[in-house]
Amino acid sequence: MEKILFRSTNRKAPCVTFKQALLKGQAPDYGLYMPEIIPKIQKEKIKEFAHMLYYEVAFEIVKLFAQDEIPQKELLELCEQAYNFPVPVEKIDDKIYILYLDKGPTASFKDFAARLMARMMNWFASKEGINLTVLVATSGDTGGAVADAFFGLGNIQVVVLFPLEEVTDMQRKQMTTLGENISAVGVKGTFDDCQALVKRVFIDNEFSKKNLTSANSINFGRLLPQSVYYFKAYADIGDESLIFSVPSGNFGNLMGGVFAREMGLAVKKFIVAVNENDEFPIFLETGNYKPVVPSKKCSSNAMNVGHPSNLARLVDLYGGWLTDERDANGNVIEKGVLKITPDMEKLRRDFISFSISNREVDEVIRNVYDKYKIMIEPHGAVGFAAALKANYNGCVCCLETAHPAKFPEKIREVLNMEPPVPDCLAWLMEKKEKFTIIENNYQQLKEFLYEISDTCS
Ligand SMILES: *Cc1c(COP(=O)(O)O)cnc(C)c1O
Repeated sequence: MEKILFRSTNRKAPCVTFKQALLKGQAPDYGLYMPEIIPKIQKEKIKEFAHMLYYEVAFEIVKLFAQDEIPQKELLELCEQAYNFPVPVEKIDDKIYILYLDKGPTASFKDFAARLMARMMNWFASKEGINLTVLVATSGDTGGAVADAFFGLGNIQVVVLFPLEEVTDMQRKQMTTLGENISAVGVKGTFDDCQALVKRVFIDNEFSKKNLTSANSINFGRLLPQSVYYFKAYADIGDESLIFSVPSGNFGNLMGGVFAREMGLAVKKFIVAVNENDEFPIFLETGNYKPVVPSKKCSSNAMNVGHPSNLARLVDLYGGWLTDERDANGNVIEKGVLKITPDMEKLRRDFISFSISNREVDEVIRNVYDKYKIMIEPHGAVGFAAALKANYNGCVCCLETAHPAKFPEKIREVLNMEPPVPDCLAWLMEKKEKFTIIENNYQQLKEFLYEISDTCS
């Protein structure tokens, strides 16, 4: 088997192994890692996935990339530990399915990636006897999923940055009540500010000797596990007309699907469903890319992204080059510059994209409840609304990416009901919160990082 190496989308960094891509997160030239070769899975094999357990399917896919870097027996165990919850797909209408990705411990689809990535990172860290610090910016759901996934893993310290005013109480509590190796930092700014702060740490020479890594969706380790449910759902549904509608923010979820297709999953199209941050549908239509700055605040708060970090990967895969313009010190001068335009015709064949307004989200939450007695939350609703707009004549699988109980205010407002609260969220309410508040100021973040690295060394 040929060894799979990972190259940077910015083309100026050396290729690295799976382990290095996982532990580094971002390439030193600020690019994102892409596999040089994408292994293929045969059609017959994909059919068999319908008769396998979820974690077994995960193992079959991840092992193609991990190759010999994690022994197979141990990788299978990591998959089994990561995926100890159901992944149901429900047929709700003649041609509409819902894939529920909200049954993990933090009731968000981000559990899928975070739980396996955490276990793989911990496996490498403990094998090498090193301590890692994972630094992550969250718009809401990543922080909780990452915190939960790494909680109690001895070789890893986690720092989560979240926009103080943009997360719900429940989302905040998922990050601030764990303690131990998990530190939460509330930033007086937007999600984009949090992301920018994290990116600065990674390019800061002062931190270059620390084993810092990112758990944001720029990490290839966050994407790969998200290919798995596309395979599993496709096999379970067993209909060749099936396409997916993906509620999208940073396009990590979407890229999971795109890699699944590159690996051989015969999905004709993806519906890229975005909220009022409409840079992508406009790009698809016009070929001109312009980030939405600042990003708009919508009810699907985990998708309030005006410049999706994984778009660089999508553009790369279609022969283009999207990057941020930087000065000599690595500071971003201009976000999202299209240096080489990708094959727009091919992109338009493979993707359709809709921007869904807050009003449409409310409507669809109400309509889905009235028609099917199913409660969906704002992110899933963006995907559902886009699926309806696409007016596709085959089957559509809508990804439900969070549990409605994470957005009780919205459900109350639209449906005048209380969402049922799953156990994993219920016990949060009683727990004590602990977090640090900083301004949108890099110096303050640095001081905080030095403080915690003193306490753990
Ligand atoms: C993060 C998130 C999304 C967006 O996923 P991306 O991978 O960033 O596109 C959608 N829904 C929920 C609930 C999320 O937490």
